[in-house]
Amino acid sequence: MEKNLLWKIVYNRFEPDEEGLREALCTLGNGYFGTRGAATETLPTEMHYPGTYIAGLYNRLATHIAGRTIYNEDLVNCPNWTYLTFKIRDGEWFCPSTAKILYYRQELDMRNGLLLRKIRFQTRKGQRTKIIEKRIVHMANPHLAAINYSIIPENYSDYITVRTMLDGAVMNMNVERYRQLNSHHWRAHDRGKFTRNGIYLAVKSSQSKIQVCEAAKLRIFVADKEKTPAIEIIKHGKKVIGQEFRMFIHKGSRYQIEKTVAIYTSKDKGIKNPKIEAINSVNKVKRFNSLLYSHQQRWQELWDKFDVQIEGDAFSQQVLRLHIFHLLQTASVHNIKIDAGFPARGLHGEAYRGHVFWDEIFVFPIFNLHTPEVSKALLMYRYKRLSKARIYAKENGYRGAMFPWQSGSSGKEETQIVHLNPRSGKWGPDHSRLQRHISFSIAYNIWNYWQATSDLDFLEHCGAELFLSIAQFCASLAHYSSKDGRFHIQKVMGPDEFHEKLPYTSEAGLEDNAYTNLMVVWTLLRAEEILYLVSDKSRTKLMKKIKLTASDLKLWHSITKKMNIIINEDKIISQFKGYFKLKDLDWITYRKKYKSIHRMDRILKAEGKSPDAYKVAKQADVLMIFYLLRLQEIQDIFRGLGYSCDRKLLRKNYNYYIKRTSHGSTLSKVVHCFISQLLGKEEEFLGWFREVLKSDIYDTQGGTTPEGIHAGVMGGSVDIVIRGFAGVELIDNHIKINPFLPKKWRRLKFRLYYRKRWIVFDIRKTAIKVHIMKNKLALPMIPVEINSKLHYLLSGKTVTFTLNN
Ligand code: BGC
Repeated sequence: MEKNLLWKIVYNRFEPDEEGLREALCTLGNGYFGTRGAATETLPTEMHYPGTYIAGLYNRLATHIAGRTIYNEDLVNCPNWTYLTFKIRDGEWFCPSTAKILYYRQELDMRNGLLLRKIRFQTRKGQRTKIIEKRIVHMANPHLAAINYSIIPENYSDYITVRTMLDGAVMNMNVERYRQLNSHHWRAHDRGKFTRNGIYLAVKSSQSKIQVCEAAKLRIFVADKEKTPAIEIIKHGKKVIGQEFRMFIHKGSRYQIEKTVAIYTSKDKGIKNPKIEAINSVNKVKRFNSLLYSHQQRWQELWDKFDVQIEGDAFSQQVLRLHIFHLLQTASVHNIKIDAGFPARGLHGEAYRGHVFWDEIFVFPIFNLHTPEVSKALLMYRYKRLSKARIYAKENGYRGAMFPWQSGSSGKEETQIVHLNPRSGKWGPDHSRLQRHISFSIAYNIWNYWQATSDLDFLEHCGAELFLSIAQFCASLAHYSSKDGRFHIQKVMGPDEFHEKLPYTSEAGLEDNAYTNLMVVWTLLRAEEILYLVSDKSRTKLMKKIKLTASDLKLWHSITKKMNIIINEDKIISQFKGYFKLKDLDWITYRKKYKSIHRMDRILKAEGKSPDAYKVAKQADVLMIFYLLRLQEIQDIFRGLGYSCDRKLLRKNYNYYIKRTSHGSTLSKVVHCFISQLLGKEEEFLGWFREVLKSDIYDTQGGTTPEGIHAGVMGGSVDIVIRGFAGVELIDNHIKINPFLPKKWRRLKFRLYYRKRWIVFDIRKTAIKVHIMKNKLALPMIPVEINSKLHYLLSGKTVTFTLNN
């Protein structure tokens, strides 16, 4: 593959059925906002969905459905700023889905953060026009975006009319199964013009009362000379404002229309009025190219840090860059000023209503090890909602802080109570909020942020309080039974969402979910460590503040020694109490009967059966623990609890559960991929890795990517390359490197930011080169374990190690 193409996603035909997927994959963003790569010339239709989402901008609406009133908070689809089209004399407005297309090329240029389209089309009268469009969402100034739209009449000279709009009549309509729900989020606020070629539109969300203002300026250039004609303002309803102008275009000339847009909201810090800010920002912009230049520079800086170079495998290289690209567009250094978490489906679509889930756990590693300030900003989103989490715990009879399974603006539980099964068309109860493991995932993220950064300041001021409050919650989940001398946890769900309760019982929740129980133990063990990482003064203050007593600590310790894990005589860890009594599913028949069995829960429910009754999992549950923790750590936990665990047990459990998992969540593939590598199942590992990479680019779940990227799988794929292929592990105070390069990979190169130093890893089949960059603020030496030997590497030096293969 041509080297340049490794930085691009290219589409050479217009495919109506693929538009939704391409819109999500071609989304441009900068952490502050994201805009889907929908055709510029269209308003929302069945085929096109030009969505724009601002990080942390939610609104709550009520809907009367299935005999009750339900409330949903959504990441709101903001006014469409991209709309721009034209018509020749009295012809039809141009749109790729209705025109006769002669040539079409759409390119996502990830290196430069640029969306490019080249189109040639012909009207019924035989007039041929070439269009070249460039679009950016500015990475350096998070409020700016711009389009450069060139029109070149190939065989005619005539009048054209150009129309652009800021369209606030948008609704949240991206996800078909939510369409029965109320989605009118915007109220008209203000609109008008400024200077002779600017317009603005301000709308306000109905319940959260957030004002969003977009200002747009239009300029026209012919042979680089400004020729902006008189522009007319058009208005449709109260939430739309547009501009229209007519001009004569000459055969063969190029007419560049530049639309620059600024977006501000009343949530932005340090501003007085979103309208004034938006107008001022857009007024300051010179030409599209000057914006493009500063934008490209920022992307260059980002890629210098984040790029992972793979030589010998073009597909992996290209998709990995796509994944990194979208993660960087969903959260960036701009998040430091924004109060927002990392939505599971990015700023790319409306699935799961833009909520923040545990998927962050898959995303954190890449930020921890490249721009930890972004991880910290994401942790601060949780910290700011700590008091809500305390209330939530209390309401449910627990202590400490219990975070909601789905989180939005306020930190209250956003998981819906009823859920529509698109297969049966029926609404049913949704118990997924019982996934209490969301709280431990936050603890896990704090711990790993700490491991990567040794940021004691964060720990002292926020991290320890957050962690210990979660630990308090963990301990309050566990109940001691004198019958078996063990602690048990009831009324929870594991990551496998198909099992909500035991069959033939009415009460939701399960007992002794192994993943939950083990993560509780892990959290309590790390909490004990955290207490001794902070200063004596901070510890005393903190314990007083969160009412943590010596007897609590005693209880914690006891839980870490006596938590119950159910393991059968074949060494299979029971996913939860009662799991082994469930029926086995006839997988062969279901595979034959249905094209996709990813969502076995929906299939079974539509057949009048309950997934609760079967050994069928949506995603890795027991195995999840082996994805998150090193085998050595798990062995220590098991030993402490009086059980034993070894690689054989892991192998048995992998072989057992893989047969019973439908991978209804893309996260499942990440976990199975990583574990197959741990087990040395080379073929399987590579097969899974391809599956992981294919998840979004080919929308392998059939229709989910158009509703937003899967941030977890994207983060997971990078994590697999770092931990799986490069074999880089952070162990207490040293780094271990144990690479495995597939046959066709010649080289793997990347850098990580570890405790204030950049480390460059350059891995080939026979040797590893490690270079630690100098930083006066950091210790001059890093212990690195290679070939089972510890080496102390000095900053500023490059060391080459020959690998024992
Ligand atoms: C998965 C969850 C995940 C959520 C959001 C669900 O399908 O089962 O584990 O958190 O999607 O991505």
